[in-house]
Amino acid sequence: MSGSALEVDLDRLADNLRRVHEAVSPAEVMLVVKNDAYGHGLDAVVARARREGVGWFGAFDVITGARVRDLVGPEPRVFIWTAENEAQASLAVDLDIDIGVGDLRLFTALTGIRGGRTARVHLKIDTGLRRNGVRPEDWSDLVARAVAAEDAGVLSVEGIWSHIAEASDDEDDRARARFERALAIAADAGLRPRWRHLSASAASFARPEFRYDLVRVGAFAYGIRPAGGPEEAALGVRPVARWTAPVTEVGADTVRIGVGSRDGLFSTLVGCTVGTPAGPRRVTAITGSRVEVTRWDGAAVGDRVTVFGAAEDGATATSLAESIGTIGEEIAVRVSPLVPRRYRGMR
Ligand SMILES: *Cc1c(COP(=O)(O)O)cnc(C)c1O
Repeated sequence: MSGSALEVDLDRLADNLRRVHEAVSPAEVMLVVKNDAYGHGLDAVVARARREGVGWFGAFDVITGARVRDLVGPEPRVFIWTAENEAQASLAVDLDIDIGVGDLRLFTALTGIRGGRTARVHLKIDTGLRRNGVRPEDWSDLVARAVAAEDAGVLSVEGIWSHIAEASDDEDDRARARFERALAIAADAGLRPRWRHLSASAASFARPEFRYDLVRVGAFAYGIRPAGGPEEAALGVRPVARWTAPVTEVGADTVRIGVGSRDGLFSTLVGCTVGTPAGPRRVTAITGSRVEVTRWDGAAVGDRVTVFGAAEDGATATSLAESIGTIGEEIAVRVSPLVPRRYRGMR
C-alpha cells in the first residue's frame, strides 16, 4: 500500500449486522446503504449483507436502488425515498423497488403509471423534521387517495413511515405521538400496511417502542457510534472501516503523512489526534495532500498511521467528528472515492 487506503472489514460488518438483528428483533432490519454505503463501497457491502441474510436495503435514490436490485436479485426488498421525476418513479416500479412517498406530486406520478407492476408505496408522515413528508393536515387526504388507488389496483400501500431526529427523547416522543395519530387515521380509513417504520440506529437500539415492524439502520451497522453517545463496546458493534496513510517524511519535530483535505479529510481537524505506531499523536497541520503530526521516536517513512478506525487505533470517525461538532457519518462519507477501498472478508 503506497498511498492512503480505506480498509473495510466485511467480517466486522457481518458481526455488526448480527448484533443489530439481535438488538431489534423481532423487528426486521433495513440496512441503509446511501452515500456509497456510508463511504464503505456499495457493491461489496450489499453483496456481503445479502449473504448475511439482510432482507431490506435502504438505497435513498433510484439510481442506487437500481444498482442494489442488480446486486441482490429479485428477492430482497429495496427501499428508496426520493425520485427526481416520473421517469425515475416509473423505473423504480419496474424494478420492484418499494417507494417512500412524502409528497403528493410523487404520489400522483405513481398513480399515473400504467401497465407492468403494481407500485409498492410507503406513505411518509412528517412527524416534525419538516424535510420530506406529508404534513399532518394533509394526511387524511393522502390516505383517502391511497385507499382509492389501492382499490383501483394502481398501487399497494406496503408501509407507513417517518424519520425522526434522535437527538432528544422528548422530541422523539412527540414525533412518535404524531406517527401514532397518522397510523390511527390510516387504520380508520382501512389501511393496515404490513410495514410500519420510524427509527434509525440510535432509537432502534435504545427504545423498543420505536421499532415497530422494521428499523432503518446505517451508522451502527458500520460501527459508527453516535456523537456524544455510548461507546462502540457498549453498543456491541465495531467500526468496519479503517483509514490508513503512510508516513512520507520525518522531520525534527513533525512527521508528514500522505493524506490531506483533497482525500476528503476536513481541514478543520487540526488539533485532533490520530493513531501512530507509538500511540495517539496530535495533528498540527492539514494541507491538500498531507497531514503533519507530532513526531514520535522511531518514526520511519512507510509506517502507517490510522486517521480513523477502531477506538484502540487512536481515533474513530466519531471521535474526529466530535472535535468539529459533526457526526461520524459525515467523516466517513467524505473519504474521497479516489481513495482505494481494500476489503477483508470478501467472499
Ligand atoms: C440515513 C437514514 C437512516 C439511517 O440512519 P442511521 O442513523 O445512520 O442509522 C434511516 N432512515 C433514513 C430516512 C435515513 O435517511
